[in-house]
Amino acid sequence: MPSQDSNLAKVGHFIHGQSVPVAAADRLSPVYNPATGAVTAQVALANTADVALAVAAAQAAFPAWADTPPIQRARILFKFWGLINQHKDELAALITQEHGKVFSDAQGEVTRGIDIVEFACGIPQLLKGDYSEQASTGIDNWTMRQPLGVVAGITPFNFPVMVPCWMFPVAIACGNTFVLKPSPTDPSASLLMAKLLTQAGLPDGVFNVVQGDKVAVDALIEHPDVKALSFVGSTPVAQSIHERGSHFGKRVQALGGAKNHMVIMPDANLDKAVDALVGAAYGSAGERCMAISVAVLVGDVGDKIMSKLIERTRSLKVNHGMVDEAEMGPIVTRAALERISGCIEDGIKQGAQLLVDGRGISVPGLEGGFWLGGTLFDQVSPESRLYKEEVFGPVLACVRVANLDQALALVNGHEFGNGVACFTSDGHTAREFARRVQVGMVGINVPIPVPMAWHGFGGWKRSLFGDMHAYGEEGVRFYTRQKSIMQRWPESIGKGNDFIMPTAR
Ligand code: NAD
Repeated sequence: MPSQDSNLAKVGHFIHGQSVPVAAADRLSPVYNPATGAVTAQVALANTADVALAVAAAQAAFPAWADTPPIQRARILFKFWGLINQHKDELAALITQEHGKVFSDAQGEVTRGIDIVEFACGIPQLLKGDYSEQASTGIDNWTMRQPLGVVAGITPFNFPVMVPCWMFPVAIACGNTFVLKPSPTDPSASLLMAKLLTQAGLPDGVFNVVQGDKVAVDALIEHPDVKALSFVGSTPVAQSIHERGSHFGKRVQALGGAKNHMVIMPDANLDKAVDALVGAAYGSAGERCMAISVAVLVGDVGDKIMSKLIERTRSLKVNHGMVDEAEMGPIVTRAALERISGCIEDGIKQGAQLLVDGRGISVPGLEGGFWLGGTLFDQVSPESRLYKEEVFGPVLACVRVANLDQALALVNGHEFGNGVACFTSDGHTAREFARRVQVGMVGINVPIPVPMAWHGFGGWKRSLFGDMHAYGEEGVRFYTRQKSIMQRWPESIGKGNDFIMPTAR
């Protein structure tokens, strides 16, 4: 654990509307600019007492916030919507600096996050309950949805703005108070969002940030005042948080890893399919949970597109994310670079055909950065680790199959079921694919089918633990609980006690 370096910026917590200065006793973790390899800041890692302070602030803010009319909560979110739009490029620049993805992609990430804020501004409509007049004679029955209390979000490095936005706008619009535990790899954007929420008029304590690692997560899981956990990250951690959070009586949605396939049918527009494949495989250096990491080439598609795919992979423009023409930035950390390079080595040993090797590239003037070029394998065996495991880097594995049935069997046999795409020009093929595929999010001629804010995001199988998808109406259901009220007024009184099960009369 590094000691404090007075020359480096410090990234701390945000509790009860205030930035918490980093204390001498805090554990710290370095924050890198992956394009240069330089340490740019140190982030505090919360201990159990820090988490307790944040939860206490959120718990204290809950009663008044839950009582605030939804339309007033929406108005504050709408002000936040204005502010986050004004600061979009500042947030995107922070993402590029600490994550490495290219600036235009970071802007896209912020935009998709803002979409959820916009969705949450419709909360009065979303919280309208159901009402049955005259459910029985003189009796009405209605349902309402009420907030849970303090809820926490634990988020991954790869979308430091968008993934928190999958959670907190909906959670706080529903009347909950929120504790965010961002990834320590790129923690700064969380503090800018906290500042903007405060500027928008959000009462102190409604949104809090604790920076940290497993210690902070364990404290959130075990804290009795935390009523729900939303997690996005890798599958082993997702599964463990789902199990442990459930054990402690919490509602949990835990979104995990992925291995997304793109099936290219022989009747597809192959030029468009290759364009889409290259962007989806190598955009954001493959560090997207919806990145395409497997191309399923049906019939003679492999023979027809491989030379173009090789050429496009070789000519990818890898550079600092703030360089205009960059198509792909660096890998997020040196450890991730080494892990992905190990996966490439494994792929070679497992007999896959390495057609483009991205290892060993460097970017002039940025030799300290964590660089890896696009990497392309063909003839990958479905039995190999390269096929089975999530690589989470710019490595595309091509598998060849004879027909649609084989393609579907391959996709459906995989343990993950986050996203999938099918490229075809045949309506019946598209329809059959969408119906039969065992995956939560499907793209037809769309490589990365991330659902819009009002549809909700979630994978199947080992890509999601829990019942509810993130955001959209599923998100509203996750962050609220239903109460049913049955009411009878005076004229019905005086008929005496009912000892039988009430039925419609
Ligand atoms: P990660 O699982 O390492 O970390 C995610 C969060 O959990 C971070 O906040 C981290 O600090 C915390 N954490 C890490 N180890 C922990 C542990 N042992 N106990 C408790 N908390 C722990 O994931 P990452 O590397 O930050 O992100 C990449 C992963 O996230 C990939 O697997 C990717 O597929 C996945 N992801 C999934 C989705 C989705 O929607 N399904 C979206 C984005 C990313």
